[in-house]
Amino acid sequence: MISQSFIRLAFENLLSEMTIQDYISKGGTLVLDPVEMSTSADEILANYGNIVDSICIVAKSEAGSAYYPSSTAPKDPRFGELFTAFAQIANDIGIRVYALIHGNMDGFFSRDPNFQMHRSGGIALEGYVCPTQEVYWQYLAEIAVEVASKSQIEGIILKDLMYPRDVACFCENCRRTFALEVNIDRDFSLEQLKKKPAIYSKWQTNRVNALRGMISTIINRVHSEKKVEIITELVLDPETLYFDGATNHFAQDIRMISQITPHVLLHLHPWSSFPTNDDEMNVLMDALAPIRERMEGMRNSIFLWQPDTTTFNYAQSLQNQLSSSHIFFTDYQPVSFLNRRTLHLNLGV
Ligand SMILES: [Zn+2]
Repeated sequence: MISQSFIRLAFENLLSEMTIQDYISKGGTLVLDPVEMSTSADEILANYGNIVDSICIVAKSEAGSAYYPSSTAPKDPRFGELFTAFAQIANDIGIRVYALIHGNMDGFFSRDPNFQMHRSGGIALEGYVCPTQEVYWQYLAEIAVEVASKSQIEGIILKDLMYPRDVACFCENCRRTFALEVNIDRDFSLEQLKKKPAIYSKWQTNRVNALRGMISTIINRVHSEKKVEIITELVLDPETLYFDGATNHFAQDIRMISQITPHVLLHLHPWSSFPTNDDEMNVLMDALAPIRERMEGMRNSIFLWQPDTTTFNYAQSLQNQLSSSHIFFTDYQPVSFLNRRTLHLNLGV
């Protein structure tokens, strides 16, 4: 006998497939990560190949593994050829391909204690690499060059190039360097920094400059080989006060980012539910004013995790108002979602 839960599951699967098709036919760009998705890349091509105009494929995962034969990053044991193979097929049938690289989230690289990010007080943040490490800037730049040179792509999305919260990074290297710079004891905490506004402001500027160094290194290295568009993420959530939190917590300062890259990726409401009515949408539109002020000479795209139909429709109206070039969307919420939400919103210890 078929159980009710089975029927519900089958119905939900059908609904989600219809929704993917619906979003793609409305011009959305599906983001593929074989580790996160329930649908295989082959199924995506077989089912939607005829209506897909552009697609985004993850090239380096949150785990730090490459979905292409890399000489730099460890090859993913299951999907080590996926990016290259899929990009080739997509190119052959006229689909434009974007690559996505997860930046400071790197389960592989962060295992090295010299590179791991640390919270104020000293606790290591598993899975995150400290943004001040120039060795890591070069590492990401090499990966971006490999991706750009091995496959025909339109652009590279740099996602998760960030500090996860103001409590990071207090690794030994970050503390030692800053203590020398401003002449304080190296065993300082976030609370102590915040009590000295001039020093804290310098600390915040240094964090933004670390991201500037990382993004510039990647762009310069890629553009020395190939003119591929680099799209840099801004994490914009109401819980972190949109652009304020992007700068103060994540060091993703729109002024810095828009100086060095002409295309920004607006990851909207990653940790909070998306607006469900016009009033809430107006609040979001107001919050996005800094983008509207910079629209001339700057391109933007929208990024959403697993949108429902209402969210996608609202995102489309935003796309019209902000002249966004793409709506990138996933059909999954990352496995890391709950842990990351706790960290980014500082909900835990
Ligand atoms: Zn650090």
